[in-house]
Amino acid sequence: PDEQFDPDPKKKTLVVLGTGWGSVALLKKLDTSNYNVVVISPRNYFLFTPLLPSCTTGNIEHRSIMEPVRQILRHKKASVKFYEAEATKIDAENKVITITDNSEVQGATATTQVPYDMLVIGVGAENATFGIPGVREHSCFLKEIPDAQAIRTKIMDCVESAAFKDQPEDEVSRLLHMVVVGGGPTGVEFAGELRDFFDEDISKLVPEIAPKFKVTLIEALPNVLPMFSKQLIDYTEKTFKEEQIEIKTKAMVKKVTDKTVEAEVTGADGKKEIIVIPYGLLVWATGNAVRPVVKDLLSQIPAQKDSRRGLAVNEYLVVQGTRDIWAVGDCAVAGYAPTAQVASQEGAFLARLFNNMAHTEELETQIRELSTGLNLKPGNAAEAATQIESAERQLRRIKDVKPFHYSHQGSLAYIGSERAVADVAWFNGNLASGGKLTYLFWRSAYLSMCFSTRNRVLVALDWVKGKVYGRDVSRL
Ligand code: FAD
Ligand code: NAD
Repeated sequence: PDEQFDPDPKKKTLVVLGTGWGSVALLKKLDTSNYNVVVISPRNYFLFTPLLPSCTTGNIEHRSIMEPVRQILRHKKASVKFYEAEATKIDAENKVITITDNSEVQGATATTQVPYDMLVIGVGAENATFGIPGVREHSCFLKEIPDAQAIRTKIMDCVESAAFKDQPEDEVSRLLHMVVVGGGPTGVEFAGELRDFFDEDISKLVPEIAPKFKVTLIEALPNVLPMFSKQLIDYTEKTFKEEQIEIKTKAMVKKVTDKTVEAEVTGADGKKEIIVIPYGLLVWATGNAVRPVVKDLLSQIPAQKDSRRGLAVNEYLVVQGTRDIWAVGDCAVAGYAPTAQVASQEGAFLARLFNNMAHTEELETQIRELSTGLNLKPGNAAEAATQIESAERQLRRIKDVKPFHYSHQGSLAYIGSERAVADVAWFNGNLASGGKLTYLFWRSAYLSMCFSTRNRVLVALDWVKGKVYGRDVSRL
């Protein structure tokens, strides 16, 4: 067959949904010559999410943390098909996926179907809003590149409008009040980046508005960063106080309007009251929700009727109650936190599993052929028997695939003013540290984790550029 267009009928078709942490880790290690590999994602690039908060202020330019998927696939042994589309329906019964091109430009075909023999779902998650009124209409999220661009534009729009001639004072205060909802790492890192932007650049370029600039972080739980140790939570809260970022804990946002946030605050005496907070920019970072295509699949599988947070998978990442479907990353529920670390280890595990499966089939065929030969040519029996034995030994070894095991390397978060917090695995224990040295560790760790050398060079140049010239405050 023409490899460019037709799948090889001798190979199974492996469809991979998504180009995020899970799917790309799989693609990186997969021997693509064993399967007809098809990748489907509405995003034709991989995004290094840990540095996304830095893009909201221009500390890092967004293209520095994007890697085109076609560039990634170009280096694979056998060609891989990529379709820029969203999977809108997975028909697990007939093994067919419906895909739709939802981008701005579409050809005559914008919806079609892709059959699969094996499917890996790595579609990630969407933003949780808990159905709170006004959130979708009025707030910015922080998950994808366009989100970071929208925030960057809006920060400067608020600043320029606040500096507008004859602006009433209370309106200046509102416009310069940047509210972040959600005290997980996304909200905390964004608040830190925002404060840096203001202190290092905006206050120097637009000094007349400086006294009014304010950042508030709203969190429903009693403290921020619940996944970090108590010592680092305290350190973060102390640092935020110094940076004049106000943290409102035990405050649950219930409603959002175009200019205000309404939150129910529980006081020390246990009494609840509603407070109304005016804002200029609102960033909503309250975690993950299940994507519609995953919800739809869940509804097709009786074994998943109790799954609320995503696709329940077994220890080999097989979606429970299905055949030939695996799930990785934020859309899979395997008992781990929805992090890039987990997603990438899951993707790499599946690559090993699939490479093994292909090798197993190859060995089984070899054994079958040798056994037939054994019957036909007695002269070669001894040699064939040795080969069979060796193939069987190999087969036993590779068939013994251990289940997925997650190895936690630690948690890292930037908290502003060149400080970071880290809970890292250290020999057999845990090392908790916070401060400027940790910040240097944070920078070097993220730099080394960037997808490609090109990304690393671009990120490092952005950091140097920011130090020398300051951030670019042009509003696009
Ligand atoms: P994603 O990386 O989100 O990828 C999902 C992919 O699926 C995307 O390519 C998307 O376009 C595609 N897709 C979506 N819908 C469809 C569809 N219908 N059909 C086909 N494809 C689809 N984790 C850490 O461990 N450390 C960090 O420092 C860290 N920092 C973060 C910072 C931010 C701002 C955010 C938002 C997250 C951060 N995370 C971090 C979490 C981490 O990014 C996620 O856990 C990780 O991206 C999950 O990987 P994934 O492959 O499941 O999903
Ligand atoms: P999260 O789920 O970690 O935190 C969301 C927070 O929002 C929670 O603390 C929750 O109590 C709060 N919240 C929910 N509803 C609220 C409401 N109505 N009002 C006020 N507060 C509300 O979400 P995240 O920070 O986006 O992180 C998502 C995942 O990505 C996590 O697994 C996280 O570990 C990972 N991540 C890691 C890093 C890092 O390691 N540096 C950075 C970003 C994200």
